[in-house]
Amino acid sequence: MRYADYRTVLQEAEARGLRRRLRAADDTAHWPHVTLDGQPVVDLCSNDYLGLAQDPRLAQAAAQAAQTFGTGGRASRLVGGSDVATRVLEEALAHFTGTEAALVFASGYQANLAILQALLAPGDWAFCDRLNHASLNDGVRLSGARCKRYAHLDLEHLDRLLRAAPHTARKWVISDTVFSMEGDYPDLNRLCAIARHHGACVMLDEAHANGLFGEARHSGLAEAQGVTSAVDLQMGTFSKALGGFGAFAAGSRELMAVLVQRARGFLYTTALPPSVIAAAYEALGLVQSDPTPLARLRATQAWFIPALQQTLAQAGLSCPSSHTPIVPIICPGRAQALSQALYRAGYHVGAIRPPTVPAGTERLRLCLSAAHTHADLRGFLEALAQALTHLPTGAVL
Ligand SMILES: *Cc1c(COP(=O)(O)O)cnc(C)c1O
Repeated sequence: MRYADYRTVLQEAEARGLRRRLRAADDTAHWPHVTLDGQPVVDLCSNDYLGLAQDPRLAQAAAQAAQTFGTGGRASRLVGGSDVATRVLEEALAHFTGTEAALVFASGYQANLAILQALLAPGDWAFCDRLNHASLNDGVRLSGARCKRYAHLDLEHLDRLLRAAPHTARKWVISDTVFSMEGDYPDLNRLCAIARHHGACVMLDEAHANGLFGEARHSGLAEAQGVTSAVDLQMGTFSKALGGFGAFAAGSRELMAVLVQRARGFLYTTALPPSVIAAAYEALGLVQSDPTPLARLRATQAWFIPALQQTLAQAGLSCPSSHTPIVPIICPGRAQALSQALYRAGYHVGAIRPPTVPAGTERLRLCLSAAHTHADLRGFLEALAQALTHLPTGAVL
């Protein structure tokens, strides 16, 4: 049989209890209330942190652009040129990130592959937090650069690795700002100072921080920690708090021009469609001018995190006092069973398992959104308390 050797892939995943399946998500018009495989649930695991994916202002901008300019990007930008909406969006992004210039990419995953493949080459050295997003790891691998991974957030380890690298080699320090599975983040002042001391460039992935951190523009953690000018490349996405799709790189004019020469994931792909660009531009304006969604998210975090910690403590579990909307609940051996019990009770919380996270750190991962109501989250806490009573501490399933 032609596919016999692939079948073992499925059998092995099945045998280890790690087979991934796609579920049907329906009735999504009133997110976070959706139907998942026929069961009505409150979605607590998506990245629409500000609820903008359903904001009528974004939908209207997208619809109007589609009606006026059509649905397709038609050609790569190198071949077909950049329309005025994309040019204006890139100018707005440079202002947003406090940089000289920005370049829009098709998606965050694609941007990271394209940026790293363009800027790093064999002979270069990449210094990466061990828990960096898969797209950063894949990009470094694709570039052929040597990759040194330091322990999560351990900047002394980073310093030691940098010191051991050849003095003359080109070096990049590459990190998520908010980590997607932990909800924590590095001390960027120290990270940038260490990088500068060793003559290394810095690239930050702000996917989970865009729109959420920074007092003036809410562009991300580089702004919040005041390191914008020490960062060589900021990467961000429109797909999370900005409620849309697509991604961007931002930095010096020269570095963006290099990406236009060499970033294959930019050169050999079609421009984003007008509707997507229009929604991105609208979202960028909204996060800088309408404080309501972020204030709602902050208010939710302020009451919910302590209440969650109290519920967890009764079962001998805990979660960090997260300032980010990502809340991991580490519960080795129990994540899957808890997730299933919560699903039956009407709450969709992802169980994150290896290889996405290291073995022994299986977790529930909650993502809070401005769109969650008090009732949604109160109900969740009750369901969690129930589920934990039925799965006592130490139960290994
Ligand atoms: C989600 C994510 C990406 C990928 O972005 P997409 O726009 O969804 O492709 C990249 N980096 C990090 C840290 C992410 O969390």
